[in-house]
Amino acid sequence: MAFDNSQGGGFQRKTYKGDWKCSECGKEITELPFEPSADRPVYCRDCWRKKRQDRF
Ligand SMILES: [Zn+2]
Repeated sequence: MAFDNSQGGGFQRKTYKGDWKCSECGKEITELPFEPSADRPVYCRDCWRKKRQDRF
């Protein structure tokens, strides 16, 4: 009986490390869950959350 023991299932959360500043509050950001683009403002976690809530 063959038992398929595959490793590394699931996804790994990728984080991008760098040195940014929040466009809203100026807080330092060293890690982002997505790749930031130069022509888009970067927000810290708090402001990002706030922005999402403001949408509705
Ligand atoms: Zn912020």
